[in-house]
Amino acid sequence: MFCYQCEQTVEGTGCTKIGVCGKNEDIASLQDTLLFGVKGIAAYGFHAKELGATDPEVDAFMHEALFSTLTNVDFDPHRFLKLVLKAGEMNIRVMEILDKAHTERFGNPEPAEVSTGTVEGHAILVTGHDLLDLYELLMQTEGKGINVYTHNEMLPAHGYPELKRFKHLAGNWGGVWHKQKREFADFPGAILATTNCVLIPKDSYKDRLFTCGIAGIAGVTHIKGKDFSPVIDKALSLPRLPQKEGTKLVTGFHHKNVLALAEKIIDAVKAGKIKHFFLIGGCDAPGDKGNYYREFAKAVPNDCVILTLACGKYRINDIDFGSIDGIPRLIDLGQCNNAYSAIQIASALADAFKTDVNGLPLSMVISWFEQKAVAILLSLLHLGIKGIRIGPRPPAFISEGVFKILQDTFDLKLIGDPKEDLKAILG
Ligand code: SF4
Repeated sequence: MFCYQCEQTVEGTGCTKIGVCGKNEDIASLQDTLLFGVKGIAAYGFHAKELGATDPEVDAFMHEALFSTLTNVDFDPHRFLKLVLKAGEMNIRVMEILDKAHTERFGNPEPAEVSTGTVEGHAILVTGHDLLDLYELLMQTEGKGINVYTHNEMLPAHGYPELKRFKHLAGNWGGVWHKQKREFADFPGAILATTNCVLIPKDSYKDRLFTCGIAGIAGVTHIKGKDFSPVIDKALSLPRLPQKEGTKLVTGFHHKNVLALAEKIIDAVKAGKIKHFFLIGGCDAPGDKGNYYREFAKAVPNDCVILTLACGKYRINDIDFGSIDGIPRLIDLGQCNNAYSAIQIASALADAFKTDVNGLPLSMVISWFEQKAVAILLSLLHLGIKGIRIGPRPPAFISEGVFKILQDTFDLKLIGDPKEDLKAILG
């Protein structure tokens, strides 16, 4: 086909790539990155808005960012790079208003031990990210003889006082989103999916699965408004779960309760008892390559503390890492949007040690899979954080040229061998 930008005949799809010259893959890559980042921001903005919180600057940016991807608007890669990093800044703003909305509505999280066992009785399993949906369901199931269990990104709900006060918030079932087909098939009760990362269901549990809010699957009942009666009726019609012991998962950390330990942490660093901090987590991608994160965490020396968040935590949260002077060695900060807490903790430590985040003994080893992870990575780059390792695979939408810019500017790296990477970090 003839390309009116190149003024020559181009092969393949050429300029059909949403108006971007098929020959300039770096601009196409930056546009894709921006679009994925904007989708992540939209997800957090959606949850915040449900709780009554908005930020006009974030909303205005969404228009600017989407407009910039229109046909023949902008072909300047440098301007686009700035816009991509501005998406990171806007993502911090939206994570901040979401955190504020969550804590104002549900209280400041407190560390909590969560059972992976079951309590005798009817049951509903809730997956996804929407804490407001979980709250409404807990209200509507109270006193009905139904126990509610969390799955995947709902685990951190157990830390919020206004959610954990419900005695029938009984525990957590299963783990990461990509194992849900097996875990949902094994769960005998009703299942409610509140957001993305819900998979097309198997027939074995399709009639027990419900969606609400933004989530939807053809042939699966979608809850209108927040009236969960169909889920409740279904749960009551299904067999009761048996009483069964399980293990314990610890969640409920947040920058407010971690920074309450700031003096202790700083003393432990000064005394040489804590040598390094790691952030290991993110959106977990299916497949064996993700075992890197488990192997990496297992190899982390005992004088280091690991912060984790999002569903990447399920690669490591069954391991007992112990503690250092009462400071847990594994600190689960919650959902992916709680990357805001990680940023707050890193900034406070940097202030305390009179340095910047890059001057801290802190390394980030992040798994990425979907759009929110892209938005979070852009936030970290916007803050100028260097030396981040990402994996398990390179993002397919980042061209070689753009990756080179990110390597040169931010020392962004791909994960390699866990022990070699750890050695390179700790020296
Ligand atoms: S952290 Fe990311 S991959 Fe995991 S459930 Fe949330 S959005 Fe999905």
